[in-house]
Amino acid sequence: MVERNGNLLGWPAVKGIISDLDGVVYRGEVGIRDAIQAFNNWERTGIPYAFVTNNSTRSPEDVAEKLRFFGVTVTPERIVTSSLVAAQMMKERWPPRTPVFVIGAPALYNAIAAAGFEITDRSPEVIVMGLDRNISHRKLCVAVDALLAGATLIGTNPDLLLPTANGFELGAGAMLTAVSAATRVRPIVLGKPEPHMIETALQRLGTPRESTLMIGDQVATDIQAGKRAGLYSVLVTTGVAEPEEPGLSPPDIVIESLSEIPT
Ligand SMILES: [Mg+2]
Repeated sequence: MVERNGNLLGWPAVKGIISDLDGVVYRGEVGIRDAIQAFNNWERTGIPYAFVTNNSTRSPEDVAEKLRFFGVTVTPERIVTSSLVAAQMMKERWPPRTPVFVIGAPALYNAIAAAGFEITDRSPEVIVMGLDRNISHRKLCVAVDALLAGATLIGTNPDLLLPTANGFELGAGAMLTAVSAATRVRPIVLGKPEPHMIETALQRLGTPRESTLMIGDQVATDIQAGKRAGLYSVLVTTGVAEPEEPGLSPPDIVIESLSEIPT
């Protein structure tokens, strides 16, 4: 175990777990054995867990199925995606049938439609942007026109680059930044490092904040989101990130395997 401040007794009494996915439970298409075993143990001993992901292109059902493939049992209700929190936040701020233009994957469209909004390219009042692998100049122009006419801009997540098997692909945050720069409209951004997804996951677990862990492999997103939500934040080194990033709050603890978590 890598310790912080030499403190081995720093762990809270763990009553619930909120975790990132890629880099923690699996890396791409390969499961991480210790992590899968740890979640199976928590399932057996009755420690509830939930997953939070910035990926707006998968529905909770898709994610639950992928986890089942790796041998982790979880219901879709315990999976909080950035599409889901975007729809949830919009429901709190705009009435049903508000016209919304969506740039994103089917999972984002479905989440926004299920929340009761009218998806349209005609005079939308809200523009929601997630990762759209079929983004076009026309879609961007619809967004820009609406924003210049006073629409609100929402981004599912701020990720600029996404790691792939061969390097990186452009993330949702990159196109969001372009549209924001062109129109000088500041977006409302969800996803980690913002705490919205953590708050939703906490509500679903029903566990006390001070005894719920936030586990992730990235300091800039997972750990900052955990800290902002007031959770004990655990960095696991099975992913891509460096344990320390200049200018960012460090994790409460750094571990090499989820088997080190005392539960
Ligand atoms: Mg990750």
